[in-house]
Amino acid sequence: MNGGPGGLGWVPPGVKSQAGGGGGFLEQNGVFVPLQYTSAGDPLQGGYGFCDWTDNGRTPHPGVDLNSGGSCNADEGVQVVAPTDGLVVAVLPWDGYTSGEGNHLWLYLDSPVCVAPAYMHFDHLQAFAVDEGQRVAAGQVIGTCGRTGNWDCAHSHEEIAKALPSSWWQWPYGWSVAQVQAAYYDPGLWYQQTVEKAGGMNGLPMDTTPEERQAMAPYFAMYGVSPNMETAIMKRAALAYKRDETPGPCLTDEYPYGDQGFVRQNFTARILEWHPQDNQVYTVEVVKDGIST
Ligand SMILES: [Zn+2]
Repeated sequence: MNGGPGGLGWVPPGVKSQAGGGGGFLEQNGVFVPLQYTSAGDPLQGGYGFCDWTDNGRTPHPGVDLNSGGSCNADEGVQVVAPTDGLVVAVLPWDGYTSGEGNHLWLYLDSPVCVAPAYMHFDHLQAFAVDEGQRVAAGQVIGTCGRTGNWDCAHSHEEIAKALPSSWWQWPYGWSVAQVQAAYYDPGLWYQQTVEKAGGMNGLPMDTTPEERQAMAPYFAMYGVSPNMETAIMKRAALAYKRDETPGPCLTDEYPYGDQGFVRQNFTARILEWHPQDNQVYTVEVVKDGIST
């Protein structure tokens, strides 16, 4: 089912088989938001953002606390994946009682698609899925979301350090906001810039012409849905097709989703979602090898 019947000779890129994440990941240009089921409209669900004050005003939070599923422990046990290719440089199991990072690990993100190489830190994991020294591919599961380190609610704390940290337990207690900004990337910004760079690399096309979109229309209409090729979602779907990614043929027309004005459309291998707030089209569901959940 991955990619539909492939009637136009299309085959999915082989790299997809390395990405073991199953469904429910936000992904753009092959760059993943690590926590499964993260909502593009509300990735934190109340968690700390970059440089929000923690420790009673002593620490600018050096990363983001991603939450998914809508309640305290709805995301406990869901998958955490590598955002890009990288190397596992530290796997640090929890001692079972000390409050803090819990089970945590560091990835060195050295993929050329990254806006800059970086050390990414994942805290409070329920379990690890990788070993030190292992190379991982974008979308590969590195662990599961948890609340180790004595947290009430599971969440995925993620920091992106600009350079090798002073220790694998580096925590900027008492630092100024300027110091934290100098040492860490704003993860949201890093993600956005990496997505943009990934899209522009290796001659990846960034646009389609109206003529190209019209020529692709029969492929998308394979299951009897005749899409308007000039909507934002269909422009994104056509671009994906041109890049040899796959949305697959249309399974539905556009339909409203949620209470924030989002619009969705289902394809055999993708669900695409348009947001009026930023006029962006997001991939909210990636169907890999026929597994969608
Ligand atoms: Zn945090």
